[in-house]
Amino acid sequence: MSAPALFDTHAHLHVPEFADDLPAVLARARAAGVQRLVTIGTDVGTTTAAIALAAELDGVWATAGIHPHDAAEADEIAFVEIERLAHDPHVVAIGEIGLDFFRNLSPRDAQERTFRRLLDLARRLGKPAVMHCRDAHAETLAILEDEGVREIGGIMHCFSGDVAIARRCLDLGLAISLAGPVTYPSARALPAVARFVPADRLVLETDCPFLPPQGHRGRRNEPAYLALTAARVAELRGEPLDTLGPRTSDNARRLFRVD
Ligand SMILES: [Zn+2]
Ligand SMILES: [Zn+2]
Repeated sequence: MSAPALFDTHAHLHVPEFADDLPAVLARARAAGVQRLVTIGTDVGTTTAAIALAAELDGVWATAGIHPHDAAEADEIAFVEIERLAHDPHVVAIGEIGLDFFRNLSPRDAQERTFRRLLDLARRLGKPAVMHCRDAHAETLAILEDEGVREIGGIMHCFSGDVAIARRCLDLGLAISLAGPVTYPSARALPAVARFVPADRLVLETDCPFLPPQGHRGRRNEPAYLALTAARVAELRGEPLDTLGPRTSDNARRLFRVD
C-alpha cells in the first residue's frame, strides 16, 4: 500500500540543521507520502534562501515574511526587500507573521507594526498569510479582524489555542494547521480542536526542524514525521488516514493555489 498524499504546509528546510543531508531528508519525506512542502521565510535572509530552494525543487514552494522574533530588526530596507521577494512566483504566501508574547524577542509594538504591514502586503499581492501566534490570541485576532483578513485568507500555523479560539479563526475565514504538539500526552485542548475543525479547513505541518511529534522529541524534526501527526489527527477524528491525508493536502493546495 502506498502512503497517502500529504502536504507539509510549514517547514524550515533551508536552515543550517538540514544543510548536510537535505536530499536524504526529502527522500524520506517522499517515502512517507509528503509530496508537497512550503518552506517558510522568517526574515530577508531566510526568505531569500527559501525562494532559492523552491526554485530548485519540485513540489516545494516558499513564503516571504518577517517573524515576530525578527520584527525589531526589520528596518525600512528589509520591508522593501521582503516586498520585492514576495513577488517571486515561487512565493505562495506572506509569512510567517504574527505575534509572540511568550518569548517577546521583539518589543510588542514592533511586532504589531510588522504584522499589520505585512498583512497589508498580503492583501495588495493577493496572497494568503501564514500566522504565528504564541500567547497572544486576543491581540492577534483583533489585528486580523481590524486588517480585514477575511479578504486575505490564510493559515493559523501550529495552532495552540482551544476550540473557542479555533471557532473565531474559522469565523475569520482562516484555516487551522496542526503540528507535532497534537501528538503529545500534554496536548491540552488540541485533540478537541482536531475533532472540531471542519474537514475543508484543516491542514497539517511539521514546523521542522522544531516541534517533533511524540517519539522523536528532543531531536530534529523533519517532513517525513508529518505522517505521525497525520495519523494521530486521523485517529482523533475517527476517520481513515487515506481520507484525511489527501483532503488536508487538497485544502493546502487550494489555499496556496498550487498543483
Ligand atoms: Zn511559527
Ligand atoms: Zn515556523
